[in-house]
Amino acid sequence: MDSHAPQHSPRYMELATFMRTPWQADPAGLQVALAGVPYDGGVTCRPGARHGPREIRNQSTLVRGIHHVHRINPFERLNVADVGDVRFSRIFDHEAVLADIEAFFARIHAAGARPLTAGGDHSITLPILRAIARQQPVGLVHVDAHTDTWGEWNGSRFHHGAPFRCAVEEGLVDPRRAVQIGIRGGQMIDDGWRFSRDSGMRVIFIEEFTALGVPAVIAEARRVVGDGPVYVTFDVDGLDPAYTPGTGTPEVGGITTREAQQLLQGLMGIQVMGADVVEVSPPFDPSGNTALVGATMMYELLCLMAGEGAPR
Ligand code: MN
Ligand code: MN
Repeated sequence: MDSHAPQHSPRYMELATFMRTPWQADPAGLQVALAGVPYDGGVTCRPGARHGPREIRNQSTLVRGIHHVHRINPFERLNVADVGDVRFSRIFDHEAVLADIEAFFARIHAAGARPLTAGGDHSITLPILRAIARQQPVGLVHVDAHTDTWGEWNGSRFHHGAPFRCAVEEGLVDPRRAVQIGIRGGQMIDDGWRFSRDSGMRVIFIEEFTALGVPAVIAEARRVVGDGPVYVTFDVDGLDPAYTPGTGTPEVGGITTREAQQLLQGLMGIQVMGADVVEVSPPFDPSGNTALVGATMMYELLCLMAGEGAPR
């Protein structure tokens, strides 16, 4: 291997791209496009996730190639590059931002690449789904403390607590092929939980997660999403804040990093047509560990995208 190749040179060198992949703004020819959405205008409480992509890029320099369970090297299997961050035409106009995000991901989709994204708050997932799931509703694996199926809040339907309600209502996600994992925490109203249940989504609260154990949760998730295309969305607040304190809406009593890795590894073979890691908020993450967890989960997701049977 070329001694200047990213996987060979010292990992602390050069500009930080996601997992030290090449930076390539044009997605043409890529199979997976690593993208950043540095935006947190959809938060309902603590901001900071706009700084997520840069810190995840930085911590992702620790990621290596060969996965210790799957024994594959996704960087050899896939043509993958960092396509940079979404640029915003009117950054203080939330709905204009959503349109900019959609246009950015539509370009990736049109090039035939699958996106793997670092947010940003969870509101960014709706325009990504608008860009890549209009032709056919997709299945959803959603790790989060929150169902993110709430309705209008303070005059908008497009905050970070609502993307999956909008996605179901817009026909982007098939609720019968959607599973939400790790749900917990008190709420002001139970509208979101009821929407998820009544629309047919499979909601696995943290108590059921613990009672079932990870292997049975994997089996249930695989049953729900089946063989069709699936989008995987990973909110780091699904984990316990002992592991990911740097997030806007922490909820104690969550999933461990080990359980999350086991869960994602157990999904090998599902048809991942896109994925994201959201809600890493570096201002609340002085150790940098939340960004490292985010980068590690992106690597797990990249391995799923590179796995046998996955679309190439
Ligand atoms: Mn969320
Ligand atoms: Mn959440």
